[in-house]
Amino acid sequence: MPTVREKMLKPRFTKELELDNLPPESLTPFWIELIQDGLSQPVEIPVLVAKGKNPGPIFGITAALHGNELNGIPVLHKLLNNLPLNRMKGTVVGVIAANTIAIHHHKRRLYEGVDPNHIMPGKDSGSTAEVYVHRLFNRVVNQFDYLIDLHTSSFGRNNSLYVRADMKNIDTRTMAYLQHPQIIVHNPPSDYTLRGSAMEHGIPAITLEIGDPQVFQIQYVKRSIRGIKAVLREFELMPRKKVAVPPPPVICKSSYWLYTQQGGFLEVLPEVTDIVEKDQVIARVVNPFGTLIKEYKSPERGIVVGKNVNPVAQTGSRIIHLGLIAKTEVF
Ligand SMILES: [Zn+2]
Repeated sequence: MPTVREKMLKPRFTKELELDNLPPESLTPFWIELIQDGLSQPVEIPVLVAKGKNPGPIFGITAALHGNELNGIPVLHKLLNNLPLNRMKGTVVGVIAANTIAIHHHKRRLYEGVDPNHIMPGKDSGSTAEVYVHRLFNRVVNQFDYLIDLHTSSFGRNNSLYVRADMKNIDTRTMAYLQHPQIIVHNPPSDYTLRGSAMEHGIPAITLEIGDPQVFQIQYVKRSIRGIKAVLREFELMPRKKVAVPPPPVICKSSYWLYTQQGGFLEVLPEVTDIVEKDQVIARVVNPFGTLIKEYKSPERGIVVGKNVNPVAQTGSRIIHLGLIAKTEVF
């Protein structure tokens, strides 16, 4: 695992991501102002740009759009600080913390509890959150030729290392396979997400879900970096080389969450990436005195993409995220 950089780099303070004027073979930190707070101070996001020796595509990677989803941050630190700039074509842009406000508060959402990944690409004139994401999109993301958006599960849940991608689009299918995650879920991009907005603007984009919230999980981080490097080689930003290929992912044609109907203390039995069979008991809910209220069974065969690990489960709590495995090579 590469180490982080020891020598301090001088950041540029700006309102736009300016890539054209950067010298070849350079690594440049930016603080990009998106909005101002009520004390007239800039609200800025940290962006690290690695520009290769020769021209080529602009490959964007965004982390921590949800402020408690942190595994993408060490991915970008270790990746960008160790790229072979003298042998690289094009530019890799790492948005280290897309949602700086929520990071301060160890929270997921943006201003007024708004989920930034439900309002993309925002509005030029609107609420604080709408303007914030609009400028994030237009000042930064819109310059990318490709995008990988790094997320994790939410509080109280565990995720596998999995990709959401439109497997019917050749670029995003390639990005998904080369990422070599544990699971790929075919998921056409939905409106108002960063991935969906990027796709609408002609930027092939996938979402990589890297484990659990508010932690750095080094094994998932290492595997994510290996996958991103494979994608960078495929799109010719980095020279090709032979590498050991991890086991192939499980491909899911679709996925959905199962929810509790009764409230109580919840125990979810399978682990992420376990296969569950139809009618297999997957969870138990007990009342405050330890009496079984209900056992939940899997309605069909599938793979556990994610699971709830928060035992306090009111009616309507998530149980498992069940992926329906594609029977043959359908994509
Ligand atoms: Zn997220």
